[in-house]
Amino acid sequence: MHKTLLGLNKSELETLTKTIGESGYRGRQIGQWLYQHSVHTIEDMTSLPAQMRTRLATEYEVGRSQIAALQRSKDNTIKLLLKLHDSETIETVGIPYADRFSCCVSTQVGCPVGCAFCATGQSGFKRNLTAGEIIDQVLSVQETAQKLDLPTKNNAHRISHVVFMGMGEPLLNYEATIQALHLLNEELGIAMRHLTISTVGFVPGIRSLAQENLQITLAISLHAPTDELRRKLIPSFQQWTVEEIIRACRDYVKLTGRRITFEYCLLRGINDNAAAAQQLASLLKGLNCHVNLIPYNAVETIPFRAPFRESIQSFRETLESAGIIVTQRQQRGASIAAACGQLRERSDA
Ligand code: SF4
Repeated sequence: MHKTLLGLNKSELETLTKTIGESGYRGRQIGQWLYQHSVHTIEDMTSLPAQMRTRLATEYEVGRSQIAALQRSKDNTIKLLLKLHDSETIETVGIPYADRFSCCVSTQVGCPVGCAFCATGQSGFKRNLTAGEIIDQVLSVQETAQKLDLPTKNNAHRISHVVFMGMGEPLLNYEATIQALHLLNEELGIAMRHLTISTVGFVPGIRSLAQENLQITLAISLHAPTDELRRKLIPSFQQWTVEEIIRACRDYVKLTGRRITFEYCLLRGINDNAAAAQQLASLLKGLNCHVNLIPYNAVETIPFRAPFRESIQSFRETLESAGIIVTQRQQRGASIAAACGQLRERSDA
C-alpha cells in the first residue's frame, strides 16, 4: 500500500525529499501543491521534475478521498459524503456565512461515544481518521464550493473557520486532531482562534489539550446539567461526572486564558425545562464561558423531538439573567440531512 503525503507538514516533506536525494526546496513545493493547489495526484505537481514525480509515485500517493454524494441546501450549506481509501465513508459540511466560510469536519469513522440523540452514535465505531483525512475534508469542501461557485465571503471559496464537530469524538483521536490543527494553521493559513474542538467531555483529553496551550476554541457538548440526565443522553461517558468536567474546564481556562463554549442541545421535554436551565446557570457560575443553545434537529430514526420556541426562549432568559452569555445556533442546511451521520446512514441504507 502506498503511503500518503497529505498530513505531512513542511519540515516532514523537506525530510522526505532529502531522503530521496532531492533538496528541501522540493519538499516545500510539494506542500504548496498539497495544501494550496489541492492536487489529487503526484502527476499534477507539474513544477517537480518528471523523474522525481515517477520516483515519488512508486512509494507515495496524495491521499485524497472521492466525493460519493453531495447535497446542497437552499441556504447554500453543502454536505459531502466522502469515500476513503478503504471504502469507509465520512461526512463533512461547508457552511457559508456572510462573514466567514466554515467547515465542520469528522475525526472518526462512526463514533464510539454513542450519544442517544445522534445518528452517527447509533451506527457504531469503525476507526480513527488520520490528520491527512481530516485536512482532505477541508480541501474537498473548498473545491466543491469553487465548482458550484457557492456564494461565500469575497467569493474566495477558502475555508476561514473549522469546527471539529462532525462524526466522532476528536479527543479520542488526540494525536491526529492536534496534527490537523497545526496543519490547518501552518499550511492552510487558518488562524488558531478560528479553529474549534468540540468534545463531549473527555476529561483526560481536556487536560492534555490545556497543556498544548493553543489559541483555539474549546467547546464542551454538555447537554445536561446533572449526572442523572447526562447518563441518559451519553451513557458511555459515565466515568466522568459533570462536576469533574466543569473542574477540568475551570483549569483549562486558568491555563490557557481562553473562554470555553458549552454546547447544549435542547431536546423537548428532556433537558429544556426551567429546572435544567437553573442548574446549568449555577454550574457555570464564575466560569469564563458562553453557552451555545442548539435546538435539536430531528432525526427520523431517533425518538427525540425539537424543542418548542417558548422553551428555547425561557431557557435562554434564565441563563442570561444569571449573567451568562448565550448564543443560539442558527439552523443551517435544514433542507438536507443536516444532522451529523444522516447522509451516511441514508447512503448505507
Ligand atoms: S454527538 Fe458527537 S460524540 Fe455523540 S455520538 Fe454523535 S458524533 Fe459521537
